[in-house]
Amino acid sequence: MRMHNETDLETILLGPILADRDCGDCTVCCTVLTVDTPDFKKPAETPCIHLGAHGCGIHAIRPHICRTWFCAWRRIARLPDEARPDRSGLLVSLNFVRAPQNCFEGVSINIRALAGNDAIENGMAATVLDSVCDQLVPVWFSDGAKKMLMHPENEIARLVITGDAAPSHLQDEVAAWRERYGVFAPNA
Ligand code: SF4
Ligand code: SF4
Repeated sequence: MRMHNETDLETILLGPILADRDCGDCTVCCTVLTVDTPDFKKPAETPCIHLGAHGCGIHAIRPHICRTWFCAWRRIARLPDEARPDRSGLLVSLNFVRAPQNCFEGVSINIRALAGNDAIENGMAATVLDSVCDQLVPVWFSDGAKKMLMHPENEIARLVITGDAAPSHLQDEVAAWRERYGVFAPNA
């Protein structure tokens, strides 16, 4: 799933692990995520074989990736307590795509809506979006079937991807995204 330098990137882009947050009863990542590391693998959307009624059954000797990976809720103070994935139905994390379709896919924040969640109806999805769409990091929203780019907004994204000349009021923003993410363009 991730290499060690990507953990460092999570700290740079999302911030360090917050001292006053812990996973509590949440085990969402132990079920939802794909893990593909040399010493531990598990498929997506499947509970880890070590996951029991009281959480991780091998906590003291859990794999390296489980010791070092944390979702964005553990790092971003602006995300409210109720945004913990088991409460909100939203798992927010940094995503890495090895063969990106466009420059916004290589490294991005992904808000993953879990099955059966009502985060859009109860406003939590909007709260979470507000909390993560404030910097030069692309944000996607996915629901398992499809994923949508939420940040930057459509017109900015189109200009960055196509290379079309930006109108003057968007020039600085388009230039900033291009400078930072041009390296992830498929043909860069
Ligand atoms: S999804 Fe986040 S809060 Fe839940 S167990 Fe994983 S790291 Fe902890
Ligand atoms: S080994 Fe433990 S911490 Fe790691 S995914 Fe499985 S249940 Fe979760």
